[in-house]
Amino acid sequence: MLYLDNSATTQVDPKVFEAMLPFLKEEFGNPSSKYYPQAVNSNKAVESARQQVADLLGASSKEIIFTSGSTEGNNMIIKGVADYYSDQGNHIITTATEHPSVLETCRYLETKGFEVTYLPVDRYGRIDQEEFKASVKDSTILVTVIWGNNELGSLNNIKEISDYCLAQDVFFHTDATQVIGKVDINLEGYPGISFLSCSSHKFHGPKGVGCVYIKKDQYDMLIPLTPLYHGGGQENNIRSGTLAVPGIVGIGKAAELAKERMAENIERLKENEDYLTRILKEKFAEVIVFNNDVSDKIPGILNVQFKGINNELLLKQLAPMIAASTGSACSSSKPSHVLKAIGLTLEQIRNTIRFSMSASISKKDLDVFTDL
Ligand code: PMP
Repeated sequence: MLYLDNSATTQVDPKVFEAMLPFLKEEFGNPSSKYYPQAVNSNKAVESARQQVADLLGASSKEIIFTSGSTEGNNMIIKGVADYYSDQGNHIITTATEHPSVLETCRYLETKGFEVTYLPVDRYGRIDQEEFKASVKDSTILVTVIWGNNELGSLNNIKEISDYCLAQDVFFHTDATQVIGKVDINLEGYPGISFLSCSSHKFHGPKGVGCVYIKKDQYDMLIPLTPLYHGGGQENNIRSGTLAVPGIVGIGKAAELAKERMAENIERLKENEDYLTRILKEKFAEVIVFNNDVSDKIPGILNVQFKGINNELLLKQLAPMIAASTGSACSSSKPSHVLKAIGLTLEQIRNTIRFSMSASISKKDLDVFTDL
């Protein structure tokens, strides 16, 4: 079975699993307790994971707050900023092709009196920079733009958005869930990024853990915002609750591996993408259309229309050999809002499948397509 749904989730790396095991067995201490070995060891492991994640992002460990994943991270930042800065403005800018955890949060805030601009996108799902700049106004308190799209792989020009937000003194959040380990991010080069969210299971870590990056100022203070969870004050009083130590150790190890293997993984993903593109073009020339761009994208994601073929039926038929999906696993029953936003008809959307690869796949694995 060839697994090509890595944008939905990835397999836990064996080294990640090994690193987590002691914290599911004998090292069960609460990292907020003190003095005795289990507590101290748990605390050390959490802080070492924080450093591993910070190293991957080019951030300081203080700027990393552990969460349960990107849904939580996106909710935390958007609601937290909206609430904390509501006396400074009520305008939020986002895009039509965000993940539902951003879009639905923005829609919720609209019911609370916030004004949201949903920027349209081009045929590959990218926003227009001039349109974005023109949408920023005095009442804008937050810009939230996805770094790389989960269905099409297209990258937004995060550098330009981040520079503009810095110049305009507006907070900028980016959902980086799909780009971690696949795009070399160094936040030192993006001083305009105030917040970033990511999820461990998208880069070979465990499910149910992620983090947000919250930028600190020159006094080492994180940008203040209203916490999503109030309680015992863990995670700098931003995310209370006993820390999920095994998961946190897992995201730390996954981050370390992602950093170590970044160049090699990107290379492999690009090769796989080119190889599968070639096979699909040769084999299905008459019936396929690629919805994704060929450059400036997350490597390893292909979004393909099989003209006249229902995607759900095709996926069912492929399922014994190939695992893929219609796009976002989170909203598979509804036609993709991303594909709608790039101008596809309902028929074209119903013909579309996403193949998302991992670096551990070889060309030989992909040869299964030649036998279809
Ligand atoms: N943002 C993007 C771009 C995603 O792809 C996902 C996962 N599909 C999420 C946010 C939510 O992540 P999680 O389900 O881990 O909370």
